[in-house]
Amino acid sequence: MQLHELRDYIGSELAVSRFRDYCPNGVQVEGRAEICRIATAVTASQAVLEAATAWGADAVLVHHGYFWRNEDAGITGIKKRRIAHLLRHDVSLLAYHLPLDAHPEWGNNVQLGKRLGFIEQGRFGEQDIACYGTLVQPQSLAQLTQNICEGLQRTPQVIGDMNSSVARIAWCSGGAQGYFEQAVALGVDAFLTGEISEQNVHVAQETGVAFIAAGHHATERFGIQSLGQHLADRFGLEHRFFDQDIPV
Ligand SMILES: [Zn+2]
Repeated sequence: MQLHELRDYIGSELAVSRFRDYCPNGVQVEGRAEICRIATAVTASQAVLEAATAWGADAVLVHHGYFWRNEDAGITGIKKRRIAHLLRHDVSLLAYHLPLDAHPEWGNNVQLGKRLGFIEQGRFGEQDIACYGTLVQPQSLAQLTQNICEGLQRTPQVIGDMNSSVARIAWCSGGAQGYFEQAVALGVDAFLTGEISEQNVHVAQETGVAFIAAGHHATERFGIQSLGQHLADRFGLEHRFFDQDIPV
């Protein structure tokens, strides 16, 4: 298919124009017009770009692209090397940030909830990207931690009483520790996101609501993969997901 068709299809399905975001959503770097192979990844790092171009990708689709608000706009240093690599290989970079977190089917939060067995009951947070709901059945925080370990193949950092029971949970992939107090106000027993800050520890201890930091990268692997799989099925494209072992 043509790059502009891919861009228009994803843009309309993810309702990109409805979001206020910190980065451009869509084609960030333009490569060749004809698309047969798409690579997906969480972050458009140099390692991902090199693996994707070695595989023969025509376009790389990511959650974390470039040109973030407040960053230096100059194309220097690692950004120069990454963009030079894409241009040299004539490969496009497409990035989808908040629209991909929020999507009701392929979104990071819906996909994360599915993988961990959470039942969504509603949304909260900025532009309704975060989810809350219940576990299939109440579990101790220790059991829930074990399930998250298995589901994400990574040990989360958990602040809370391991013997306490968790029935209601709120979750938001990535760096959503700033939503913890909104989650507490919803009356949940636990909040899961990717990263933790010092102040979250005190709020967890003083409210009794558990805080689970399951990894920024680890919690954001599922949205872009499911979008890539959907595009492959719908348009007959080849798709491969390029993962990285990221400790955060
Ligand atoms: Zn993120």
